[in-house]
Parts: sequence; C-alpha cells; structure tokens
Amino acid sequence: MALAQKPSSDATNTHPPLPILRAWDFRDLVHGFMTRQGGVSTGAYSSFNLAEHVGDDPAAVRANWSRWHSAYPGVQVARVQQVHGNQVHQIASSNQAERSTGDGMVTKALGIVLAVFTADCVPILMVDPKAAVVGALHAGWRGVLAGIATRGLAAMVALGASVERTHVALGPAIGACCFEVDRTLADTFVAQLPAAKRFRRSGATGKDYLNLRAIIRSQLADAGIPSHLIIDVGPCTRCNSDRFFSRRAAAGAATGLQMSFIGWRKQTNSWLAEN
Ligand SMILES: [Zn+2]
Repeated sequence: MALAQKPSSDATNTHPPLPILRAWDFRDLVHGFMTRQGGVSTGAYSSFNLAEHVGDDPAAVRANWSRWHSAYPGVQVARVQQVHGNQVHQIASSNQAERSTGDGMVTKALGIVLAVFTADCVPILMVDPKAAVVGALHAGWRGVLAGIATRGLAAMVALGASVERTHVALGPAIGACCFEVDRTLADTFVAQLPAAKRFRRSGATGKDYLNLRAIIRSQLADAGIPSHLIIDVGPCTRCNSDRFFSRRAAAGAATGLQMSFIGWRKQTNSWLAEN
C-alpha cells in the first residue's frame, strides 16, 4: 500500500495514534470506525466524543475534532442530522450535508468523508472500489425496519456502483447478546422482515433478543450483495462499553457518540505522479 492510512504524528501532536477499526485496504479510501478512546472528553463522554449536541463540553469536542483532523488532513467531513429514518442523500459538499436530515449519504466526490454517529445503532460503511462510490448509513431498529440498508444500496447504484461489487462493513453495535426488545417489536420485525425470524431468540418474560447486524446482513444479501463481501467489524458496544459508547450501557444517562466514516482521499500530485 503506497498510501496506507496512518495517523499523522507531527511535532504538535504528542498523543498516541487514535484507535480506529478498519475493514479494507483499498487505495485512496479513507475509512474507519472510531472507538470512544483517544480523546480529552471526561465523564460520560470519555473520551473521544465528536458529537456537539449531546451535552459534552464544547472545548473538549473541538479538541477531539482537532485530533481527528490531524490524523486525516485535507478532508472535509459531511454529516446529516440523523433522525432514525431511511432517507439517503447524494453528497457533493459538506455544507449540503449539514442542511439535510436523514440517515445515509453516498458520494463519488474526492476529499469528502461521510460520517455517521452511533452508540449501539449499527454504523454501515459501503464501497464499490471500481466505481469509486462510497456510502455511510446509520441503522437503528427503526431504520432497519424502514429499509435504510437497501435504500443506501440503491443510492450507491444510482451513483454507478454495482451491487455485486459493493463491499459492506457493519461496525461496532449492540449485539445479539444484549439487544433485548419487547416481544411485540420482535413480532413486528418478523412480520415485516421474515428473515428476522432466524435472528430472534427468547429473552425475559415478554422480551426477545434480536441480532440487528445479522438482520441487516440478510437484507443486503437478499438485495444481491455477495455474502462474503458483507463483514462485521468490532464487537458488541454494550459488552465493551469501556471501548465504545453504548446507550444501553449508559442506562438512560448521557453518553457520547462514536463516529464511523468513509470517503476518498483528495487526489494529490503525488498520486497523479504514481499513476
Ligand atoms: Zn453484548
């Protein structure tokens, strides 16, 4: 990899590299699932919270952003106001994204990184490396029922991606071990998504456990993505709440959000020279 992603370590940054989980090694792809580690936020937001609207100290959030930008210089971050729906936007600029509500973005633009924020919901990153199309989705149970994953895939295809070539990474999210819901909700899942039956098991009285990532995987495989191209990255957020923000682990108290992101590096002269 001539252009492997590595966090920068210029003289002003004495902190260790940020922990980031990655799925792929595609050339010029910038992507990853952040953990909650490596930042300066404290308490419930400890420590790498990048979300401004969750009650964290704004100065700490700014410092965390500055750390992230020093690891990924020269890219703009595009994010939408997430609403647990299924709307997916084609993004041409980060300003356009800021004005939009929705739970997914796709782009072919260079130098723009699409970012989604989660704490138990499933962050989904997608890429067709040949068509150079990327996507990022936020999928909680409402979004999964509303078909956010297949809507996101359709938006990828509308930009020129091929379903058979689309790679998908399902990031750190609440696992089948911990995602206990009211049985009526589990019934709704099975009624609307018959495949969900395979990913449900009994919990306490009136409760069932659901495997959200497996349900999303089956939605995307049914839509035609080869199943070996759909991978899980990272563990259950609730079981690993020391490494990841988890709403369930916070049990109603405030919490930060972790960011998952994907985009294309801005093309540089060195890139052109090599090609
Ligand atoms: Zn768990």
